[in-house]
Amino acid sequence: VAGILIGDGAVLTLDGWIEPGYVFIAGETIREIHSGTPSPNLAQQADTLISARHAAVLPGLTNAHTHLSQTLMRGLAAGKPLLRWLKELIWPLQSAMTADDVRLAALLGLAENLRCGATQVVEHHKITATAAHTDAVCEAAQIAGARLTLARAWADRGANAEPPQSILADLERLFEQWQQPAAGLPQIGIANGPLVPWRCSAETLRDTRALARRWGAATHIHVSETREEVQLSIDETGLPPIRWLDSIGVLGPDVQIVHAVWPGEGEIDLLAERAAPVVHCPVSNAVLASGIAPVGAMRRQGIDLRLGTDGPASNDNQDLFGTLKSALGLARLAAADPTALSPSEALAMALAGRTLSPGAPADVIVVDLNTSRAAPVHDLDSALALCASGSDVTTAIVGGRLVVRDGRLQTLDEDALLDECRAAANSLRRRAGLA
Ligand SMILES: [Zn+2]
Repeated sequence: VAGILIGDGAVLTLDGWIEPGYVFIAGETIREIHSGTPSPNLAQQADTLISARHAAVLPGLTNAHTHLSQTLMRGLAAGKPLLRWLKELIWPLQSAMTADDVRLAALLGLAENLRCGATQVVEHHKITATAAHTDAVCEAAQIAGARLTLARAWADRGANAEPPQSILADLERLFEQWQQPAAGLPQIGIANGPLVPWRCSAETLRDTRALARRWGAATHIHVSETREEVQLSIDETGLPPIRWLDSIGVLGPDVQIVHAVWPGEGEIDLLAERAAPVVHCPVSNAVLASGIAPVGAMRRQGIDLRLGTDGPASNDNQDLFGTLKSALGLARLAAADPTALSPSEALAMALAGRTLSPGAPADVIVVDLNTSRAAPVHDLDSALALCASGSDVTTAIVGGRLVVRDGRLQTLDEDALLDECRAAANSLRRRAGLA
């Protein structure tokens, strides 16, 4: 069994930081975490030694919501509000994408996530024209070495609606083909990904959620991102979106609510009662001027909060450290309260409940704090939440596999990938009529 020893660093454990401390990885799992220096015997068992001097060692981050296909669409928000941005830019580009475009976009997006310390990525995948378009993302995750949950997006109402039977059949196919056995943490998982409540019928929401639950999988949906969408729901159903989802029985611990920027009266209580996790995407919400989610209030209600970059067409990068700092600043600004979100609470959102402990899957990152950005370090949580950037991640290990070392991706030729993506993006713009 291959052994990796990360020593001489500040290590984030269940009980807080230990410094200096070390982490020993054997095969796919963490075998030992301890303060002090490792014994010579342990060091001898390691075939890879990594020094974490003046660095932080923590679980790999989870980017809990993105759209990897948009990696070829950076810098195109162009000051448009959400619905116009979708209609004039995103939808024409999405429909022009080939399976090979999706593969390249996913590879580059996953490369960036890993380089920035996110070892686990939830992809809300919209480009479902053919099975090959969707499979390309799962294949990219296997090549890049990231853990991926692919939430298969769908809409059965409005423009480009799919018939419910084909949505269910494709979901079933994806579960059968890609969902891996529940032992440990699978590298690839599938989830049900309805786009937004107002484009999904109650019946298909219920049926797809039931199918996902049979596979032990989640449902992942954009909810109450803009005021306009909330009004749309009230006009049509008499209820705001979160209440409407609850009224049709589709709200629970397995239903991940993405955004929740505009929860109405009592809706935060409802999310807490149903134990539905909320994925906060503060940079995307700011870039699209959608609003600031009431994170402080949601945290006080004990809601399971996670952090997402959202797609590169509305962020426009995948650096979860930048998103982390924005989450902290915006939560405090919105509440006019400097205690609304602390550095360690913001960091916990990016960790999505992951911890370093013996027996846990070896998803570990090392963040260099010996930088002009972060040194001298007085408080490790603050250094990570307020000073660090994704480019300070020197090491990323996923399931015991060293995917980033000395800040370089080990699984892909990044320079060649950038050239391919540039060419694909230019051709895509022309085909979508945006050149
Ligand atoms: Zn999104």
